Amino acid sequence: MSKRDYYEVLGVGRDATEQQIKSAYRKQALKFHPDRNPGDAKAEEAFKEAAEAYSIVSDAEKRSLYDRFGHAGVSGAGAGGFDPNQFAGFEDIFGNLGDLFGFGDVFGGRRRRGGPQRGSDLRYDLEISFEESYTGTETPIQIPREETCETCSGNGAAPGTSPETCGQCRGSGQQRFQQGFLTVARPCPNCRGTGKTIAKPCQACRGAGRVGRERKITAKIPAGIATGQRLRIYGEGEHGSAGGPAGDLYVVVHVQEHAFFEREGDDLYCEMPISFPTLALGGDIRVPTMAGDEEIKVPAGTQPGARFKLRGKGMPNVSGRGTGDLFAIAKVAVPKKLTREQKQLLEELARTLPDEKVDPSGDNADKPFFEKVKDIFG
Ligand SMILES: [Zn+2]
Ligand SMILES: [Zn+2]
Repeated sequence: MSKRDYYEVLGVGRDATEQQIKSAYRKQALKFHPDRNPGDAKAEEAFKEAAEAYSIVSDAEKRSLYDRFGHAGVSGAGAGGFDPNQFAGFEDIFGNLGDLFGFGDVFGGRRRRGGPQRGSDLRYDLEISFEESYTGTETPIQIPREETCETCSGNGAAPGTSPETCGQCRGSGQQRFQQGFLTVARPCPNCRGTGKTIAKPCQACRGAGRVGRERKITAKIPAGIATGQRLRIYGEGEHGSAGGPAGDLYVVVHVQEHAFFEREGDDLYCEMPISFPTLALGGDIRVPTMAGDEEIKVPAGTQPGARFKLRGKGMPNVSGRGTGDLFAIAKVAVPKKLTREQKQLLEELARTLPDEKVDPSGDNADKPFFEKVKDIFG
């Protein structure tokens, strides 16, 4: 079987640019990758063929030899001119896309270890009082986090020295070996994938390049914040490595309960004990709010459970969209102790009210009990 033309294999013209060749190979490799075509010998053959073609055409020197002398010009370089290590170039083309396609197992450890990495995000749980959530607050918080070591600027080597390129992997951070026709890569055990070794570790961080610190920052808690809401403070997470950006800090807020108010959305609810005479006769009462007492009018004949709405006396909306309302719910205040005079007056009152006892011989003996209750108080 005669060898196919390398340009034909990749599906590009003889005048294709480096970029066109790269992208053509990328397409072929994705299409015929063994992971996507398990057990398909034809696909494997096509995959190998494309890799071989790419290994020649992507190399300026080999390409010019091939252009002038054809397959004969490049076949001397090795078995069929195909260098299996060409698969090393694969990662440059695919970058992180390889992970997306699950090529990680074949090309293992492709992630550039030791390269810039974003620091981790941190979470901080903050408890504040109900009043603080009403007014908003600024509170200092201390976060233990990893920071870049100042002594070695994060490279882990003692001052005056610097990390050296790992001799075993020559700085790639990977160990490559062949498995069938594929080259498999693993993190280099000598440098643990960083590509660098440190002869004299920095004393301050023991070579880690990072140190644990307590960082003090001031968290600005906006008015109206509720339990479970979180604030994101950009760049206050852990430092990145090798110049990568820092992570973020998430402050998760827990608001203590209030003895009198309950929050629902931006509205507040409270139960307001009111004496029986005020409920019956009407009158003015004072209702506490988060911003001081308010006087409200209780109409005569107010029933327990009646709601009084105090507009705009609830919680401020955390996003600045207005303020909730306060609902005071009427409750009967029953005195636990009575003076002799109060007792006499109440007894007198009781005599004037309809009898609450159920009389089975009365005219409404066959009415259900709740009907009788309605007759008395209706
Ligand atoms: Zn250090
Ligand atoms: Zn190494």
